Amino acid sequence: MHFSRRIEHCPMCGTRVEHRVPADDNRDRAVCPACGHIQYVNPLNVVGTLPVWGDEVLLCRRNIEPRKGFWTLPAGFMELGETTEEGASRETDEEAGARIELQGLYAVINVVSAGQVHLFYRARLLDTDFHPGPETIEAKLFREADIPWDDLAFRTVKMTLERFFADRATGQFGMHCADIR
Ligand code: ZN
Repeated sequence: MHFSRRIEHCPMCGTRVEHRVPADDNRDRAVCPACGHIQYVNPLNVVGTLPVWGDEVLLCRRNIEPRKGFWTLPAGFMELGETTEEGASRETDEEAGARIELQGLYAVINVVSAGQVHLFYRARLLDTDFHPGPETIEAKLFREADIPWDDLAFRTVKMTLERFFADRATGQFGMHCADIR
């Protein structure tokens, strides 16, 4: 989920943009020298879940780049017209075909370097009948001892799982905020 979002051409007229600080602004922006359009680029939300079944958690093995073949929690980019909860549920359905009941928001992680904010909800699996979509090689339940820590796709997934197992050991699930720079 890391990619360059630098604007090269004006989305309005196609002219090559200039990168400069517009009047009354204080940051470099993509400014179109032809039509004057300023294309703002802001962080994107990645929404997902940490689905739990008994003492196991659900992970999906990615069938797409980046990090194809590595394990992740079901998550993806939030779409326009949906809430964070709806997006997290949708991604869980699309990637794992898993039926869940959302619990609380669990982790908010600023991935400053990628211009993303990752939000993970805890969720309770309603059954273990998974139907992975085309973006997933397999969806599988893991006990803590069997988590493929070295083959996790993203640092935010690792952080979220680490906090989950630490919290579970105490029986208290807080809400966690963290930053990756
Ligand atoms: Zn333009």
